[in-house]
Amino acid sequence: MAENKQYRCVNCGKPHSALFKTYGPSVLKLTKCDKCKGIVDKYIEYDPVIVMIDIVLISKEAQWHVLYNTEFKSYWKLFIILVMVETYGLWRRDSLFNIAVDSFCGMQNGSNNNTFFNTVVPEIFKNKCWAWEQQSRSSNNDLFIMEKDFYVQFISTFSGIVMFILTFHGLMKLTKPASSRYDVSLLRVIKGFSLANMSVLFTLPMLVWGNADTSQETKTIHYLLVFGYSFMVFFNVFTVVYGRGGARALAASAALRFLASFHVTPALRTYIL
Ligand SMILES: [Zn+2]
Repeated sequence: MAENKQYRCVNCGKPHSALFKTYGPSVLKLTKCDKCKGIVDKYIEYDPVIVMIDIVLISKEAQWHVLYNTEFKSYWKLFIILVMVETYGLWRRDSLFNIAVDSFCGMQNGSNNNTFFNTVVPEIFKNKCWAWEQQSRSSNNDLFIMEKDFYVQFISTFSGIVMFILTFHGLMKLTKPASSRYDVSLLRVIKGFSLANMSVLFTLPMLVWGNADTSQETKTIHYLLVFGYSFMVFFNVFTVVYGRGGARALAASAALRFLASFHVTPALRTYIL
């Protein structure tokens, strides 16, 4: 039998060549893992809804199943849809990123004698605030301008994600232990990213039902909770993908991601769009 070990055991990650064996038209037997003695992938018998629920509950087994043992190919569609959701939040000035930028840039307008802002924050950050101001759109209700703004935010979000994936992949490659047999392809990382990025969908309730009456505090708490959850999902998915945790690499990449977005939007508004 040709050994093509493309599948993984969802319990221990050991590569396997088959998930089940068929004994006739209606009899099949799930493969057992010789390393951990468990069933290689119990999820192939489960309903997709159950798999989805386990994904939401951050089950590593379900993540192994989706990333390695399924025929799921629509990662690109998922990727683009999730970028659109994130863009929508940015475009409405309704996201954790906007709250952070607003409070950061608010220090500038708050008072001239704000010594922290004037001395600690470098000029390169301070003069980017104009692009993120709330008024920059509300004074102009032109549909074309609003549509253009959506493209700007889309490119900005997308650049942030590219920055995030490349930084994280680079850091994980740099810190890879010599003994590690995991050789992770960028494609696998992008798949993992798309899967983990589904946590963005939890911002939707606020984007859909939140309105002018929703207090800033409620929004901040909601988005902070989603961010914390998101961080855990990313940490777990990337642990599955790389075979080891990378909390510091993840935090560094996330920071760089938001820095990239923070700078791309003003650049686009100035030079191109
Ligand atoms: Zn196993």
